[in-house]
Amino acid sequence: MDVVSIRDFSREQIEHVLKVAEKMVPIAKGEEKSNLLEGKLLGSLFYEPSTRTRLSFEAAMGRLGGRTLGFDEPKGSSVAKGETLADTIRMVDGYSDAIVLRHPQEGAARLAAHFADKPVLNAGDGAGQHPTQTMLDLFTIKKLKSKIEGNHVAILGDLKYGRTVHSLSEALSMFGAELTFVAPPTLQMPKEHLKRIESMGIKPKMSSSLEDAIKNADVLYVTRIQKERFPDPAEYQKVAGLYKVDMNMLKNAKKDLVIMHPLPRVTEIDPEVDATEHAKYFEQAFNGVPVRMALLSLVLGGSK
Ligand code: ASP
Repeated sequence: MDVVSIRDFSREQIEHVLKVAEKMVPIAKGEEKSNLLEGKLLGSLFYEPSTRTRLSFEAAMGRLGGRTLGFDEPKGSSVAKGETLADTIRMVDGYSDAIVLRHPQEGAARLAAHFADKPVLNAGDGAGQHPTQTMLDLFTIKKLKSKIEGNHVAILGDLKYGRTVHSLSEALSMFGAELTFVAPPTLQMPKEHLKRIESMGIKPKMSSSLEDAIKNADVLYVTRIQKERFPDPAEYQKVAGLYKVDMNMLKNAKKDLVIMHPLPRVTEIDPEVDATEHAKYFEQAFNGVPVRMALLSLVLGGSK
């Protein structure tokens, strides 16, 4: 099975991934050993920068006894000579047992899945989707809040170009969470996603005020303004630095507010917040390892 969009998964399937991920935690921490994916190779193709996604996929593969091959910089591959994505995928399909792909173009993972016989995992396609991030986000919320449904999740920042929040908001709707979208009007959630969310019976609140939204939130999901996706740098300048979660802002927050961020952060969370009980983004980043272990073991046919 491919992991291209969160839309390809039912709630039951996501719950299954989260259950398997829970069992993977001791192996992810190196406390237990596993050879579940011994002899398996993951082709890892990153056409865009990445720290957490790429390294946690590698860690996940390595912790399960498998190996990774690929590139993190297309300039060093035949892509620089003009090779098409379809041709590169056909090659790597023959060299590996599954392919993880990050690409600047929306739809690239779907295209790759079409050309590959092996499973393709979408590690982010432009402003499209980031389904494995969503699974680790859901895992984090479930772990910290014991359930997903009923929580009030405020999603802040670049909702227009942010692929993490496109996948996440749809998944949270599937689980019956309450949603508030906090962004300047020019970066609000695209209509396509709003329609999808509303079709699942969720009526998200829209706001441009972090002060208002933070009061009722159980989870605040902060995102970076996606500078690289703006066609006009002047438009980016208008919204850069508009929101900042700092100690002052947290005065109005619930005591048990959980703050998440897919990272990297730029200026949207003051480093002072890191020392508070609210800050869960580094724990969230770690959760990428067990969740990706679960996904890899499921698509590569190992089970725990
Ligand atoms: N790392 C996340 C992504 O690749 C979030 C971000 O880059 O802001 O989408």
